[in-house]
Amino acid sequence: MKIYTSIKELQSDVLDLRSREISIGFVPTMGALHKGHLSLLQRSKDENDISLCSIFVNPIQFNNKQDLEKYPRTLEEDCRKLEQAGCDIVFAPSVDEMYPEEVKMQYDFGHLDKVMEGKHRPGHFNGMAVVVKKLFDICIPHRAYFGEKDFQQLMIVRELVKMNKIPVTVIGCAIIREDDGLAMSSRNTRLSPHERSIATEIYKTLLWMRHQAEQRTVEEILQQARQKLASHPEIKIEYIEIVDEETLLPVSDWNSSGNIRLLIALFLGEVRLIDNMRIR
Ligand code: AMP
Repeated sequence: MKIYTSIKELQSDVLDLRSREISIGFVPTMGALHKGHLSLLQRSKDENDISLCSIFVNPIQFNNKQDLEKYPRTLEEDCRKLEQAGCDIVFAPSVDEMYPEEVKMQYDFGHLDKVMEGKHRPGHFNGMAVVVKKLFDICIPHRAYFGEKDFQQLMIVRELVKMNKIPVTVIGCAIIREDDGLAMSSRNTRLSPHERSIATEIYKTLLWMRHQAEQRTVEEILQQARQKLASHPEIKIEYIEIVDEETLLPVSDWNSSGNIRLLIALFLGEVRLIDNMRIR
């Protein structure tokens, strides 16, 4: 496994691979890798000749300074995991390498980046789009793998690719969960044992919502889901939404959309967690 920190060196090798018609699968991450990340890598390995994984904690997508400071950084261990999992190339640049100058680019994704995460984390999706576009320019992958764990991000990346006519196929991958249903996340390591035991309520609530759907109104389900989660004093809900998967706009009844998704964001103590589930 080759590890690069220089854009120039990686790009020259990537161009060489492409000139030899070797297909490149790309998995962008912020490190602190878990089985969710590795499932994306596995999919890339199944579908490409070479798999490239980036590890970069992107400062411009953090709207909360404390979250950025506390974000786990485990580069050596990540590289060990990637090597074991059969990754071919790791790209782990410094912040100066990625952003030698101030970033001025401002994207507009219409309402896609104004709702849910966009509303609660101002600037987050712009920072994410800037880094993903830059990483695509550097790595020039044939296919790129993103988790449905960050469902809104996946939709915005698809839009970014469409807007900029980037010749890459974006592939969405299923959410990988712990045995008790908690969606795997690098932030889970920051939960106290007590918070960790409560965290499973997010998954349980999503399951309950899916199970109850169509037996009650959308509004009733939202209200009761809020009540369920709010009964734990450690939980501070940011949003619970029932939306159309394409537009990400709230649905008012179960028949108003073909593909409906449930999304939850909340603070458990100081840790912000998100999760989602397709209803049909
Ligand atoms: P992150 O390192 O959090 O930026 O995540 C890198 C990629 O891994 C993103 O495309 C995430 O959606 C994806 N990912 C994170 N957690 C999971 C999970 N539990 N299951 C599947 N994909 C995930």
